[in-house]
Amino acid sequence: MGADRSRGVAVSGAPRRLIADAMLGKLARWLRTLGYDCAFEPDITDDDLIKRAVEEGREILTRDTLLIQRRAVRGRAIFIESDLVVDQLKELSKRFEINAAGFLTRCLRCNIPLEPMNKEAARDKVPPYVFATQERFSVCTGCSRIYWGGTHKARMIEAIERMLKGIEG
Ligand SMILES: [Zn+2]
Repeated sequence: MGADRSRGVAVSGAPRRLIADAMLGKLARWLRTLGYDCAFEPDITDDDLIKRAVEEGREILTRDTLLIQRRAVRGRAIFIESDLVVDQLKELSKRFEINAAGFLTRCLRCNIPLEPMNKEAARDKVPPYVFATQERFSVCTGCSRIYWGGTHKARMIEAIERMLKGIEG
C-alpha cells in the first residue's frame, strides 16, 4: 500500500476532498456517484486548480506530468496513470478506501451533498411513474435536480462493490 507514497499523499481514513484535472472528468463523475467530494472544472487553468486545491484543502488528481512536478502541488497530488476509469479507481483504491457507501448522496453536477426531500414535494417535479413507484427522494440545493434511489439502488451498489472488489490489488 505504501509503495507509491513517495510520490503522493499518505493513506488515511479521513474523508477525502479531491479536485480532478481537466483530463479526469469521467473519474470525477464516478467519484461523485460513489459519494466522494471531487471538484471538477474542465476549463480551469493549472494555477487556479492549484489555488482552489490549497484554499479548499483538496488533493489534486491529475494525469499531467508537468503539473505533478510543480513545487506547489508536492504532497497534495495523486498522479493517475491509467486511461480507463476502472483502472483509475483501482489506482485510487491503493491510496484510500473506495466503496459505494455514499452512492447517490451527492449531486453529480454540483458536487454538493443531496438533501432529503419530502415525497409530496416531488409530486409535480418528477415523472408520474417515478412518483408512483418511488418512496425516497433527495434534492440538490445547488441546481434543484431531484434524485431517487430506485428499486435498483441496492443491486447497483452490489454491482459497484463487486466491481471495486474485482479491481482490488
Ligand atoms: Zn446540483
